[in-house]
Amino acid sequence: MSTGKIIVIVGIPGVGKTSVINYAVDKLAKEGYSSIVVNYGTVMLEEAMKKGLVNNRDEIRRLDVEKQMELQRMAAERINELSKKYDVLILDTHLFIKTKRGRWPGLNNNNLPYLPNIRQIILIEAEPEEIYSRRMRDQNRYRADYGGLNEIKEDLTYNRAFSASVSVLTNSPIYIINNKEGGLEAAGEELYNIIKEVISE
Ligand code: AMP
Ligand code: MG
Repeated sequence: MSTGKIIVIVGIPGVGKTSVINYAVDKLAKEGYSSIVVNYGTVMLEEAMKKGLVNNRDEIRRLDVEKQMELQRMAAERINELSKKYDVLILDTHLFIKTKRGRWPGLNNNNLPYLPNIRQIILIEAEPEEIYSRRMRDQNRYRADYGGLNEIKEDLTYNRAFSASVSVLTNSPIYIINNKEGGLEAAGEELYNIIKEVISE
């Protein structure tokens, strides 16, 4: 079909976003849909490394905001081009980035004009205590500067707040999936169903 539709999937580190996405994408492939998962940070990292600005993904958010904006725009252009080849492009990203100047929107007037085919926002959430223990379990992936339980609660709130503005800017509905401990399959099914709904509309 190659609809070029883009679905934004967000969730703070530790909600289990990647696992839920993988489940849904496997099932989409089995059902004959062509999809691609794109991690926004990875595309930005490639651009930043070409320019010699950073050595790893955690350095991106510490760059000057102006610099991040440039990378953010370049990434959006590449992602939009790529989306044209698929039924659906699943964009794994963040609604806010913790910069030196505070939380800065991951989807905003700087990059959204380059991503006109966003049709849906999906927010993956989990209980703050579960997020906290997942981060503790996997210290390699989750940075020490992410903060404690209170910051997790605050970030979950911020995510909902930012999702409302992205919803308005893209005319897209917001769907929230709760990735309960031990409930990966249920969350994956839910995600699969909503993606199928978007593709077939
Ligand atoms: P991740 O591996 O998904 O945590 O992303 C790595 C880094 O990419 C983040 O810490 C941000 O610096 C950057 N990033 C991801 N998505 C965006 C976005 N939409 N806008 C700006 N920066 C982003
Ligand atoms: Mg991830």
